[in-house]
Parts: sequence; C-alpha cells; structure tokens
Amino acid sequence: MARRLASRLGLVTPSPTVAMAAEAGKLKAQGIPVLDFSLGEPDLPTPGGIKRAGIRAIEQDFTHYTPAPGIMELRTAIADAYNARFPLRLSGAQVMVGPGAKSVLYAAMLTLVNPGDDVVIVAPYWVSFPEQVKLAGGNPVYAPMSAADGFTIRAAAIEAALTPATRALILNAPCNPTGGILPREEAAAIARLCVERDLWLISDETYEAFVYDDADALSLFSFADQLGDRLVVTASFSKTWAMTGWRVGYAVAAEPVIKGMSTIQSHDATQAASMCQKAALAAIKEEADAPRAMLEEYRRRRALVLSLLEGIPGLRCVAPKGAFYVFPDCTGLLAARGLRDAVELSAALLREKAVALIPGEAFGAPGYVRISYAAGPATIEAGMARLREFATGA
Ligand code: PMP
Repeated sequence: MARRLASRLGLVTPSPTVAMAAEAGKLKAQGIPVLDFSLGEPDLPTPGGIKRAGIRAIEQDFTHYTPAPGIMELRTAIADAYNARFPLRLSGAQVMVGPGAKSVLYAAMLTLVNPGDDVVIVAPYWVSFPEQVKLAGGNPVYAPMSAADGFTIRAAAIEAALTPATRALILNAPCNPTGGILPREEAAAIARLCVERDLWLISDETYEAFVYDDADALSLFSFADQLGDRLVVTASFSKTWAMTGWRVGYAVAAEPVIKGMSTIQSHDATQAASMCQKAALAAIKEEADAPRAMLEEYRRRRALVLSLLEGIPGLRCVAPKGAFYVFPDCTGLLAARGLRDAVELSAALLREKAVALIPGEAFGAPGYVRISYAAGPATIEAGMARLREFATGA
C-alpha cells in the first residue's frame, strides 16, 4: 500500500494519563459524578495577579508572535530567579520558554539525542520520557528505584543502568509518579557520574516547589559548576503556579543547547502564547509567594490522603516526600479482588465506583496505582471512601 501511517507511530502509545482523564470525562459527560485522581492537575485557581496580567496583555494587544525562545523579559526573569537562589550567573540567552515543559522536553530530546543513543530514565518514570526518547530515535534504558527505599533516587541504580551507548540521563525529582526525591549526596554522586561518563543531564524540576518533610531534596543547579554545559534543567509554570492550561514551561541550559532547542521550536509550536508569557512574567514578579501557600495546602491534602489510605486493606503506601501524588502498592488488593493487574483494577474501579486513578503500568511500575492529591479535600474524602468500599467489597 503506498499510502499509510508513519512507522514511528508503532514506537509510541497515547499518553495513558491523558487517556484515563478522557475516559473519566466521558462518564462525567453522561452525568456520572466521577471522582478524578488521574491527572496531575491542581484544582487551585491560578493566582489573581497572573490572571490579571494575562487579561491586560490581551487588552493591550499583546497578541502577536514573539521570538521563538520567548520574550527576553521573561527569559531574563527566569534566569534571575535562579541567580537569586543559587550562586549562578545565568542570562536570558540561557533560557528557552515554550508551550509547556512537555513540549520543551521534546525539543531537548530532539536537540540532544541521536538515533541509536541510549538514554537512562529513572523508573518509575513520567509517561512521556520514554516516548519522547523513542520519537527522537533513542533507546530508553531504565534505572529502577526501590519502593522499600521510598523510591529515593540513588546514583548506584543509575550507574548500573549505564551502557557504552548512554549519552544522556533524565532525572525527575521530586518524581511523578512516586514523589521520590533526590538527596544531596546522591545528586553529588550522579553529577560525578555524568562528568566521568560525559553525559547530558536533563533534570526535570517541574515539582521542585513541592517538597514536604525533607529539606535536603534539591535542584541540580546546586551542582552547576561541576556539570557545566552538560546540565539542562526543565521546569514549568503548570504546577508551581496552578497554570496547567496556560501552557508555559522552560529550559535552562548552555547557549548552544538553547539555540538548538529554539531552532526546533521555531519549526514546531513557534513559541508559547504571547499573553501567557506575560502571565508567566507576573507569576515570577508578583506572585512569587503563591507556591508556598499551595505547598501548605498540598501538605494538608497529603496528610489526609495518607491517613485515609491506611484504612484501606490491600494497599501499602510509603509517604511520598515531594510532588502531589501517592503511589501505593496494590498487589494485596489485586489478590483480594481476583484482578490480574493494576490496569484491570483501574478499569473496574472506574466502572464500579466512578473513581479514576492511573495504573502503575503507565509509569513502568506494575502492581502500583497513582493517586493525585492535587484534587480538593472533599474529593479526596469521597474518593478514598469509595476506594475503601471497592477494596472491602462493600
Ligand atoms: N514533567 C513532569 C514530571 C510532569 O509531571 C509534567 C506534567 N504532568 C510535565 C513535565 C509537563 O508539564 P507541562 O507540559 O504542563 O508544563
């Protein structure tokens, strides 16, 4: 047949988190009150100063193209925010803004990964890392972290996964889906490893603002000196400022990397939406304290969800140290309910109790489920009650 879909589609599957949210959405459209824990979607509103800046930008006709890597004012504000926290001298030229960290990460893969390169990914992993690596022609290689260890990211597990073809490492701490963090001594060992093996280190710091009881969790910028040009940090306004729908994320890296990524972006999305860039600028300039208030709210929700999960037979959960997910082991529940795997569990739970969560298989971790507690406390209480009913056959 001459006319067919491209073979690269065979490499990837649709985002399972987005797919589960769509399934839940279908039931909601039928009037079924689904309790949705599927997406990492803060239910908190975008702070007022950010909303007003977006509206002002539209009213002032800031509605046209911007440079591909973003307006310099925003790029500089992002650089300066890091300069204020770390002993760095970043300039706006070392920042690329794009339509969400997902898109920015994809530009990074296309800029850094050659066909045949191995890219080490810490597992359990965020769903898009392996798919983006494959789309760039690379091979994802997994470094599994241990549940018994609270999914703490360990250099030894990463070192064991390296191959002669490894060219890059992707870190994500705090981690989606596990909430695992990266302790300072492990980050130091990982930085050493990346220098020794001459690897790109892509550090996805989307959840950096959300760390609970371990002050030692940290940004790879603490090792910027040592890592030099090989460090690429990505982050997002989505979670930090409850701005998922505005679609603004960014990367900070050496200028040649940012230039390469901007070239890719110039042929793809072109830029993040102009008015959203102005809104993101207001997030840094006017709403710098908002993430701290959100952290306090997530801290309460985390305590709530953990205490409710304790009462559910068949689930075992370590207290996650960061992000806004819990990732319980559900093997006991699978056995008790005669379910084959977490995929079957998630489908049955949605069907029987109208509760949406994501099976661990999506993150390379069968036998687990991910529950996002970015949902409100009332939803958490009702959802965990239904989960308990499901587990006890009530
Ligand atoms: N990285 C991680 C680890 C995430 O969880 C997400 C969002 N789920 C992203 C990147 C992408 O965020 P966005 O595209 O909304 O900026």
